Amino acid sequence: MNIILLGAPGAGKGTQAIKIAKAYGLQHISTGDMLRAEMAKGTELGRRAQGYMQSGQLVPDDLIIAMIMERFDGLGQKGMLLDGFPRTVAQAEALDKRAKVDAVINLTVPEDVIMTRICGRRVCPACGGTYHISRDDPKICRACGGELVQRPDDNPETVKKRLDTYLSQTAPLVDYYAARGILHSVDGSISIEYGFMKISAILEKLKNR
Ligand code: AMP
Repeated sequence: MNIILLGAPGAGKGTQAIKIAKAYGLQHISTGDMLRAEMAKGTELGRRAQGYMQSGQLVPDDLIIAMIMERFDGLGQKGMLLDGFPRTVAQAEALDKRAKVDAVINLTVPEDVIMTRICGRRVCPACGGTYHISRDDPKICRACGGELVQRPDDNPETVKKRLDTYLSQTAPLVDYYAARGILHSVDGSISIEYGFMKISAILEKLKNR
């Protein structure tokens, strides 16, 4: 089963991805995490991606498509949970040539909620865990004890730019997948548990098909 998680920045893709991958035995692939790892290692790709990421723009399609195709080469038989990819129609077309997509989960959240969420978000660089200062310890990762940090692109100015980028370049994918009959929209604004329950109901149906 290959699943895509679609949604604006801050819709809860990363948090849901970790839960879904664990519950359904899927390989979690986050292009944002892959790019941050490249930056941390100081690779050529990391250096080229950095400026785009820090200013809230998308990294060019050719770089992303090359990176993700290489990642697919190393995959076994496990299904994939794609988090943050595809983000443009060109990326979706490249994916179509390579893998069958069984379902696209579109997490919907109003813009004001996104702002509050992202600006209070803290992440664990060690295990990818995501937390929020309004309900969690702001410093230590509950899952692995790592030290939490705020992503450099999680500030109001960059978030605004990322939302604009989402609307102009990624939102067209909603129609792209709806036209293929595989889009499922889930309200991501209520709670993590509610979102996960709704997503699980969709995936259970797919599994039993
Ligand atoms: P994320 O962690 O998914 O929010 O991604 C952080 C940033 O990485 C984005 O704002 C983009 O600059 C870049 N990025 C991640 N995935 C992609 C993608 N599929 N296409 C282009 N840029 C991406």
